[in-house]
Amino acid sequence: MDGEEFRLRAKEVVDYMVNYQNTMKDRDVGPSLNILKTKVADLKKFIPPSPPMEGGESFKNIMSDVDSLIVPRLLVWDHPQFFAYFATGNSYPTILADMLSDIYNNIGFSWSSGPAVTELEMIMMDWWAQATNLPTHFLFQTHGGKGGGVIQCSSSDAAFMSIVSARERALEFLQKTYSGEYIEKYQLIKKLVGYTNRESHSCVQKGANLALVRLRVLTPNDNNQITGEILERAIAQDVRRGLVPFFVSAIIGTTGTTAYDNIWEIGAVCKRNPLIWLHVDCAYAGGSFVCEEFQYLYGPLDYADSMNMNANKWMLICYDCTGHWVRDRYTYTQGLVITPVYLSNEIPGIIDYRHWQIQLSRRFRSLKLWLMFRITGVKMLREYIRNHVRLAKYFEELILRDKRFEITSEVHLALVCTRLVGDDILTQHLVAFINALGKLHVTPAKDQGQYIMRLCVNYEFATKEHIEFGWKHIQECATEVINLQKQ
Ligand code: PLP
Repeated sequence: MDGEEFRLRAKEVVDYMVNYQNTMKDRDVGPSLNILKTKVADLKKFIPPSPPMEGGESFKNIMSDVDSLIVPRLLVWDHPQFFAYFATGNSYPTILADMLSDIYNNIGFSWSSGPAVTELEMIMMDWWAQATNLPTHFLFQTHGGKGGGVIQCSSSDAAFMSIVSARERALEFLQKTYSGEYIEKYQLIKKLVGYTNRESHSCVQKGANLALVRLRVLTPNDNNQITGEILERAIAQDVRRGLVPFFVSAIIGTTGTTAYDNIWEIGAVCKRNPLIWLHVDCAYAGGSFVCEEFQYLYGPLDYADSMNMNANKWMLICYDCTGHWVRDRYTYTQGLVITPVYLSNEIPGIIDYRHWQIQLSRRFRSLKLWLMFRITGVKMLREYIRNHVRLAKYFEELILRDKRFEITSEVHLALVCTRLVGDDILTQHLVAFINALGKLHVTPAKDQGQYIMRLCVNYEFATKEHIEFGWKHIQECATEVINLQKQ
């Protein structure tokens, strides 16, 4: 494909994209029951097992396959009736930014491999931190220049990176203070123990497994919170067993119910145990920090050594874009600086983001933040978040009027957790039934051992009418499920 053909096809694709977006509401949110029933959702039947030796297929044919084979097998995450998971950011400005990133094709792993990639990212991480009122120690421009932020692909990367940095810091300390003969620092890994809430995202456990460190999963209180007392008790027990607490991953906005740990108390415990690295996962809830009223709901992040939030969840930025801020970038990266000759074109004192992440190569993702902030703006983001939270409260109000349902946890943000009164099996059947019909999509979770249905207001332009439409459908499905159960 040459440039002139690209110009033509790109215009067609942009038309296609806008039409797709405009007609989305007329489609089902999930693959239709027909596809599920007949199991034709099996692409292997339609796509040859090996690639063509000759290219040159017409673009028209390919787009026709996209429409007939791919689209019916997609879940429509931006659909007005998509209440599953959490919001998945998307917006035209950020799609344009991704297009620019693709054409620049700058793999900015170091400053010298594309200075603007690094410099814009540093500026954007400070903009983003200010827009969400993060403590100043996370900014490049303050705190004697020790802190800073990086765009990771995902919160899972952020959790893993924080664990590895905490591990390296703790091992260095243990090795230096070890009283016996010389010991190789990795022999001391078995002494380390980290902590997290049972309700934290599974990525924390995955990160600990990858980093080969012990993670103690703490049982939260009835509000799904870890308190200072719970953490302190666990630490004391482990210290008595000869272990060394080195890491806590606290959470603001659990995936199941948007519960949040007591950050005030946890922060104070970590302060008394300076070897502990406090990481705070705000993957979803972080978006709400653009509004003052939500920042103060959870408590300060002043003690946090690192935190993360996904702009590609609740900040109208298309995947991927996770912000990961650290208090001390030197400590964060010191275990990860490896410089072979082919990467030795570094300039002293300049940030090289390759040390801040697992992979070497990186996209020019800060363009998405730059375009979003300049075109959408913080005020519009606030309105978007507030609208979702208002609508979640409205959803809750509607649900409370139907005595067949109960609300299972407080609605803090845009997530409503509910279940059918009675045995778990009823709600399990309801979730399965709703998703099989494909008109609306939801996700289940467990809250204090009970099966629940999560309803997250996700649609960018959601209105009361969308909520009412969705609720009516859920009620109809509930009637079917209850009747079937009686038979
Ligand atoms: N943390 C929380 C609270 C989440 O809800 C999620 C995903 O929904 C994650 C972490 C993992 O996010 P990612 O897909 O960016 O790794």
